[in-house]
Amino acid sequence: MAPLCDTVSAATDRCPRCGGAFHCGRQDSEPCACGSLTLSPALLTALRERYPSCLCLACLKALAAGAPLEPPAA
Ligand SMILES: [Zn+2]
Ligand SMILES: [Zn+2]
Repeated sequence: MAPLCDTVSAATDRCPRCGGAFHCGRQDSEPCACGSLTLSPALLTALRERYPSCLCLACLKALAAGAPLEPPAA
């Protein structure tokens, strides 16, 4: 399974889930942090459908642990 960054359409410096700043390594020589997490194929598919880019590491970790795709309403 390819990392999230390999399949999303846009690189961003802002997490589309929580709105927090983060650095996606999509265009760097080093692999992005999102590739270091093991996300289930079902979760990756859902993320690609919902978000145009990869998410910050905190969100990815939360999602990998079973958090909902949408953050709780503040
Ligand atoms: Zn986030
Ligand atoms: Zn990324």
